[in-house]
Amino acid sequence: MPQNLSVFCDFDGTITTIDTGDAFFEEFSSDFERSMQRLVQGNDTVREYYKRVVTTIETTLNEDTLNHFAQRYQIDAYFTEFVRFCQQMSFPLTIVSDGFKEYIKAILQLHGLEHIPFFANTMTATYPLQPIFPFASESCTCFCASCKRNIVMEQTPPEHLIVYIGDGHSDMCAASHADIIFAKGALASYCSMERIPHYPYRTFFDVMRLMKSAIEQKKIRPRHQAVLLRKKAYETE
Ligand SMILES: [Zn+2]
Repeated sequence: MPQNLSVFCDFDGTITTIDTGDAFFEEFSSDFERSMQRLVQGNDTVREYYKRVVTTIETTLNEDTLNHFAQRYQIDAYFTEFVRFCQQMSFPLTIVSDGFKEYIKAILQLHGLEHIPFFANTMTATYPLQPIFPFASESCTCFCASCKRNIVMEQTPPEHLIVYIGDGHSDMCAASHADIIFAKGALASYCSMERIPHYPYRTFFDVMRLMKSAIEQKKIRPRHQAVLLRKKAYETE
């Protein structure tokens, strides 16, 4: 019997090869560098950072400017194949991002991937633009504007195990609640430091290969620590 898996995937630096969120604000915000410095130095939270860089966008964001932006960035060469693999296996695939819908949608459309459901922050339609955090959690204080943990838990049917794929700080909280974790970059370091079992990967080719072999070897099972954390999260939300 095939495993029931729900697959969640980060966007910036995971599906795209670089952090397209940083690239977006570097291009469109007139206050990117100073705001980034305040975030890195711990003077601002992620939400405060987003407020600064979104309200200082001076270019009109329309289909043309967003398309032009999307064309300059690459996605993982094996991501499209991974999407097909998930379809063949009937694993629901959802993108969870702490970035913004505006550029994510443009990049997905460019690659014919707009059918993949995604959750992200968004912006108001009128200028000066304001960030909107529709999925922000008050109970979680992780390094996110909108914590991905609740989305992951709400979107997973009860009999499914959770697969999480990511690379950064905004993935740490959601990944620690997942059964099977694929990690690179800061997320891999975090998992190692916290002794959270994970599969290190470089591209979606690795993710596919590791996932297939884990399924064949029947190594997919609930991760006890994640099950306990999910239970705790349900109780506090
Ligand atoms: Zn969180």
